[in-house]
Amino acid sequence: MKGVVFTGDRQLELRDFPDPEPSEDDVVIEIKASGMCGSDLHVYRSNDTALVGKYIAGHEPCGVVLERGASVPERLAPIGARVMVHHYDGCRTCSNCMSGWTQLCEEGSVVYGKSGHGAHARYMKVPARTLVALPDTLSFTTGAAISCGTGTAYGAIERMELRGGSTLTVFGQGPVGLSATMLGAAMGARVIAVDISAERLERAKSFGADAVVNAAEVDPVETIQELTGGGTDYALECSGAPEASAAAVRSTRTWGTVCFVGMGAKHATYDVTNDIIRKQLTLLGSWTFSAAGQRDCAQFTAERKLPVDELFTHRFAFDEADDAYKLFDTQTTGKAVLLPSRNA
Ligand SMILES: [Zn+2]
Ligand SMILES: [Zn+2]
Repeated sequence: MKGVVFTGDRQLELRDFPDPEPSEDDVVIEIKASGMCGSDLHVYRSNDTALVGKYIAGHEPCGVVLERGASVPERLAPIGARVMVHHYDGCRTCSNCMSGWTQLCEEGSVVYGKSGHGAHARYMKVPARTLVALPDTLSFTTGAAISCGTGTAYGAIERMELRGGSTLTVFGQGPVGLSATMLGAAMGARVIAVDISAERLERAKSFGADAVVNAAEVDPVETIQELTGGGTDYALECSGAPEASAAAVRSTRTWGTVCFVGMGAKHATYDVTNDIIRKQLTLLGSWTFSAAGQRDCAQFTAERKLPVDELFTHRFAFDEADDAYKLFDTQTTGKAVLLPSRNA
């Protein structure tokens, strides 16, 4: 089979790999949709030889079970079952692995698509325990989104223990932030969406934002304080920009909660005394989701019939990966998915 391998400095190749065969505890899935996520672009643009040149990319895998290893019970992976993958492996015995938080493995984790083979290929071999069932009513593309971007938004909202009836302000309306806008609204929050792109803010409205704030045009902190009469109950930072990180803290009301999801910012400046201590703020970090959280996100999406598929603005065949990554290297709105063929 062919697999998409990033070779450094915005180059990729469709490399030949043997079709995978399942070892004892593994399954092989046939990939039906493989989403492209912001962190794929970090690797695509990189020159770090530790990151590029080895593994098949793609960490939003969704497909069907094709084959299973000798020790995998049938009920865990029936042939033909529609599945997503919790896209990490670890030691499988530490407490984080045991509780489904494999990415936090004490021995260090493998991230599929980055430090292990990912889903930008026809087939993918994974341990059976990484499979998460895809509800019947959800498409493979929706499953791909839930396997990283949308699942990450869900994980953060769970971590914040969002209350319905409260106000949630989401900084950054890329695929994760837009998912948070949609999920927050579906959970009964009033959502304020913040971005510096008018186009992204238009999309945020269509995904349920009650108000939008263009931080390139107005002071976001002042505007959010006006919109909320003193500050937002919850702020979720999805952009990775240091300015947004500071604005999230400053626009949150006394006793409020701030959660950081957007990676990239190494430093952000806060007035610890006045912006955090004297406001009794709760600050949280949230890195993706557990395997159970991924299942819950899929369940919630199915029950509420959320339009997760509409996050995807572009669909490409696997052999068009080069065009897809070239486009999303510069385009900042929308989300793309690789499919076995363009009409799949
Ligand atoms: Zn572990
Ligand atoms: Zn991702």
